[in-house]
Amino acid sequence: MIENVIETTENCRYCLMCRHVCPVGHVTRKETLTPHGWGLTIASVRRGIIELDEDIVDVIYSCADCGTCRANCVTDQPLPSAIVAMRAEIVSQGLAPPAAYEVHEKLQNWGNPYGPEVPNGNGGQGEVALFIGDDAHFLGSEMLGSVLSLLEVVGVRPVPIGIGRNNGYLASSLGFPETAANLAQATLDELETIGAKSMLVLTPGDYYAFRQLHEERLGMEWPQEVGLLEVVPFLAEQMQAGNLAFKQGDDQTPYAYLDPTHAIRISTRHEAPRRLLAAVMQAPVTELFWRRERAHPSGNVALQYTQPHIANHLTYSRLGDALERGVRLLITEDPGSLAQLNRHADRFGLRTQNLYELLADHLA
Ligand code: SF4
Ligand code: SF4
Repeated sequence: MIENVIETTENCRYCLMCRHVCPVGHVTRKETLTPHGWGLTIASVRRGIIELDEDIVDVIYSCADCGTCRANCVTDQPLPSAIVAMRAEIVSQGLAPPAAYEVHEKLQNWGNPYGPEVPNGNGGQGEVALFIGDDAHFLGSEMLGSVLSLLEVVGVRPVPIGIGRNNGYLASSLGFPETAANLAQATLDELETIGAKSMLVLTPGDYYAFRQLHEERLGMEWPQEVGLLEVVPFLAEQMQAGNLAFKQGDDQTPYAYLDPTHAIRISTRHEAPRRLLAAVMQAPVTELFWRRERAHPSGNVALQYTQPHIANHLTYSRLGDALERGVRLLITEDPGSLAQLNRHADRFGLRTQNLYELLADHLA
């Protein structure tokens, strides 16, 4: 756990070095809503220079908790975690935006923000678990058959766990660390019950939550004896080893790979989805401007509940980036990112495609 993480704001309040990459600063063009703006606001509240009124709470709840600042910080300052720590203080004073409490109640009661369906294991036992989570269960269940088909080819038959349960990110991001820890613990308990030696996850957001967020923000270490792998890099490795092959399609639509929300937090994963895409698409991938180590998030962050207009603009910005590059098709594996893109893609004349489904359709 990072001790006194909120002190990070002292380092960030007069630093401009990551200002140009912050997606919220980019879409709002407000200086307050940039990394040093949040640093200075929080440091000023803590000094008693400004009051924690509704406007200031709104400012503190306007950061996307996307990790772009930290990924571009030469001293690896955990500013997003510091902002989230300030939100936890705001929650403890009962001053958070009403939407934060509404989502929190759903997370407490159902383990997800979508519907009254409490996560339930399927009772299986096995060496490999597949964390499904809430986004894949509620927003992208069609892709799960494709994921299982792809894994089956390389001899992996995982036991699905965490079906419909949030990975803890959302509760943490809204300022409810205890609920985040309860959700994380529920998945760890399930993992132990099935006796898995490794767990696969479907998105970089899940990987970030289990590998880093739980330890840094909640003080919960991932069990060392259990491997943790993201499915897309795993499939790319299997393809390279000759265990997985695809046939190329004939779709000539100009396309781009959209780095999912939180992909920026996993610096080693950027090449894998592009290698897989090159195996199934005829045309070379077009790169968006905000990609790889400077990838911006879509609106599938806590902002979609507390500041939906900013979340929408994050998604418009992703779609606008694609349009400017002459792209007509956006491909990604993250059901949360896809759900946000799909709400607005028509207006931009774009279509989207789930990467897992595309790959499964092109198995050799
Ligand atoms: S995260 Fe790093 S680069 Fe960004 S404001 Fe803080 S110290 Fe500066
Ligand atoms: S987490 Fe994202 S939105 Fe928040 S300050 Fe950093 S880059 Fe900006």
